[in-house]
Amino acid sequence: MPLVIFAAAASTSMSGTFVKIRRDTLNSHAIVIAGTVSRSNYITDEAMRLMVNSDIEEKSASNSYRVLVFNDMSLCISDTNRTETGKILVIPEVISALSGTDSQNLQTFGNVVYAASPVKNENSQVIGAVLIISSIADIFEPIADIENRLIYFVAIIFVLTTLFVFFVSKLYISPLRSIMETVRKMSQGHLNIRTEVKGRDEFAEMGFAFNTMAEKLEMVEQTREEFVSNVSHELKTPLSSIKVLSESVLLQENVPAEMYTEFLQDINSEIDRMTFIVNDLLTLVKLDRREVAINFQPTDINGLIMDILKRMLPIAKQKGIKILFEEEKSVTADVDEMKLSLAISNLVENAVKYTHDEGTVRVRVDADHQNAFITVSDTGIGISEDEQPKIFNRFYRVDKTRDRETGGTGLGLAITHATALLHNGSIRVSSRENEGSTFIVRIPLHQTPR
Ligand code: ADP
Repeated sequence: MPLVIFAAAASTSMSGTFVKIRRDTLNSHAIVIAGTVSRSNYITDEAMRLMVNSDIEEKSASNSYRVLVFNDMSLCISDTNRTETGKILVIPEVISALSGTDSQNLQTFGNVVYAASPVKNENSQVIGAVLIISSIADIFEPIADIENRLIYFVAIIFVLTTLFVFFVSKLYISPLRSIMETVRKMSQGHLNIRTEVKGRDEFAEMGFAFNTMAEKLEMVEQTREEFVSNVSHELKTPLSSIKVLSESVLLQENVPAEMYTEFLQDINSEIDRMTFIVNDLLTLVKLDRREVAINFQPTDINGLIMDILKRMLPIAKQKGIKILFEEEKSVTADVDEMKLSLAISNLVENAVKYTHDEGTVRVRVDADHQNAFITVSDTGIGISEDEQPKIFNRFYRVDKTRDRETGGTGLGLAITHATALLHNGSIRVSSRENEGSTFIVRIPLHQTPR
């Protein structure tokens, strides 16, 4: 568009300039001839007219224009083309010249220019007029030539620009297309699909970010599926036990009363187990949603841990396990007492549970300027390096059979982990098999209000 506008403007201004130059030239010629006509008494003196005519005709021939001389009645007294001589002609330029004004009225009719100039006597009275009629077609030939060239150039530039834009946009649109295609497939449920990442430009970055997002999404979906299958599995086991127990009593005749009691006790403990699992699950779901009312209060952490240890002491005593409480500092932090208490309880319970008889469990409280650190370590069975990253997953248990005996649900550490996150803190584990494990919970001393 700019090129077309430029070409049109260039050609218009060029033709305008050429026409103006030609008009000015013809105008000055008309003035010169009018002067000659005036000095020679051409209009009144016929003898002089014949003499001057040859002069005018020579000028007309050499400049390729037609000259007409009019008297003050607009009667044509000479015409270099001879056709109009003796006729009264009404031509606006001539009438304008006869009106006595010195101003020249130039008119362009298509490719013809009319230039008229008044003829005055010595008293400056208008006694006639000179009209020059000239074709200016010759001006338009080079302009048409230039126009043709411009059209040619514009066409070439248009084609080149179109090709350039086409290839450049293809270059930029194809990676977008590929991402769009992946998004479409993913929205249909194919979460394992990734977009191809090429180069190192913004599109590559976008593709990379997209793939990372897709991976996360797939992981979330996978975790969800695993979670549902784990929950079903965990609940199925006690349910099958209940079914077997109840059926064996129902299908037998003359069952002794002691057996009823025993089976009912077993059924009762399976129901307890299911209740544990369901309660733990509900706690986790609430922590996950983050919509639980978190009640951050400045809390005496040492006191909180002391209460937990008091509760654990009888169980530890049964196994002959020593519990040591190392208070490096008196720490007060903004925490939700109930939730943190449950989280730390889980760690201490595990420490006692997974430590052989006569072992030791240490709980340490420390702090720096920003964080409280609660460390629970034991001299127990430890966790292999491979298992360590997985133990915070829901239902993850290192040894399934053993844990069913110890009564774990596999949800304790997941709850502790979620609680630490809810407090904007973290949890770390370090452990060696058969030597013991150490869990460190970091909690910020102060919570910024959300
Ligand atoms: P559980 O209810 O089975 O204890 P947790 O989520 O609390 O579930 O722990 C997950 C698994 O991590 C446990 O089954 C156990 O195998 C391992 N684990 C947790 N704490 C310890 C520990 N102190 N020492 C050894 N293994 C541990």
